[in-house]
Amino acid sequence: MSGGAEEVGLEQTRALEERYLMRTYKRAPVDFVRGEGPLLWDADDKRYLDFLTGISVCSVGHCHPDVVKAVREQSHRLMHVSNLFYTEPMAQLAERLSESSLGGRVFFSNSGTEANECAIKIARKHAHGRGVAEPEIVSFENDFHGRTYGALAATPGLAANEALGPMLAGFRAVPRNDADALGEAVGERTAAVLIEPIQGESGVFPISDEALLAARQACDEVGALLIFDEIQTGVGRTGSLWAYEQTPVRPDVLTTAKALGGGVPIGACVTAPVAADVLEVGDHGSTFAGGPVATAAALAVLAIVDDPVLLRHVRELGAYMRERLEALDGVRGTRGRGLMVGVGLEEGIDAAAVGADLLERGLVVNVPRPDTLRLLPPLVIDSDHVDIAVGLIGESLLGLSAR
Ligand code: PLP
Repeated sequence: MSGGAEEVGLEQTRALEERYLMRTYKRAPVDFVRGEGPLLWDADDKRYLDFLTGISVCSVGHCHPDVVKAVREQSHRLMHVSNLFYTEPMAQLAERLSESSLGGRVFFSNSGTEANECAIKIARKHAHGRGVAEPEIVSFENDFHGRTYGALAATPGLAANEALGPMLAGFRAVPRNDADALGEAVGERTAAVLIEPIQGESGVFPISDEALLAARQACDEVGALLIFDEIQTGVGRTGSLWAYEQTPVRPDVLTTAKALGGGVPIGACVTAPVAADVLEVGDHGSTFAGGPVATAAALAVLAIVDDPVLLRHVRELGAYMRERLEALDGVRGTRGRGLMVGVGLEEGIDAAAVGADLLERGLVVNVPRPDTLRLLPPLVIDSDHVDIAVGLIGESLLGLSAR
């Protein structure tokens, strides 16, 4: 039976997936059909509090009315014409992104990994401009930059998968937060240091100010670019519009995606003036990128998030949430900034079991490592939502340790 859009329930959806989808994902046993603000409902109408937001995508909550309105209005007016022509929302969004950050030019993409591909191209071409024949990009071990081949090569954990080889040459990694190793790895060949200011996928590990300063200094010494992958940390997640604002350094390029479209796929590579004119006609392109619907959605998102009151709320609520989490039995400590929080669990507690138990209890979180829960709630929640989530996590930890 060809399903159409009717809701068919978890078992039927699972059967379709088994037959027709590639086996690239390990999914939790839930079939979400509806979302509103911080809440999700499954096909059985069970309600969940979402402290993951599609991995920091629905940061303004699910189906935010302003984003829905922007998408609806734009999709009635014009959905696509290609990058052969000018379109207003794209130009307006580029202005907004540039003026709110590094002040150079913007290239739009459809995803995070593609935003990083653009940054990698910029880094390599910029290095060739310095006379570097074989440019190299330096990252930290445990960084995650995406799954297309360039970004993959800068993601050491995944690039080790030889079955997908050969990998793109010209990438190396040094241990996370090792300022000395980073300083030594950067040399005349270095095109860029490409890092996440807070490693997200590997478990929420902030990069130390010392390591960031070392990266900035090393890049400045050889003329390399400092690139921050803010795909997870950007768009308000850490309590400033961009995570770099709370560090002592300013990158030359930043990449963003995830929360930028409020649920609509869009990414961007944003430059400082030093890297703004590196790519020229013919160097890069994408059919869908920067299309009117996605850029209209992103403008609506930034109108909500780029607000000092909301950003202060994110910092304060994040601090409150961490304090409450750290008081729970079974929690070893927390890591992160703003509402990007990793919860380290005490030895012997299986985070995957806690995550599965929380899902049953109606709280959506994620488990990036066997000892860590990751919380990425909507930025627009209040302390009542935090109290409910922390209460559920506490009950789950108690229940599992009593077994
Ligand atoms: N960079 C970071 C820091 C990410 O967290 C992710 C996704 O999790 C990516 C890049 C890749 O983004 P996408 O999945 O949109 O390609």
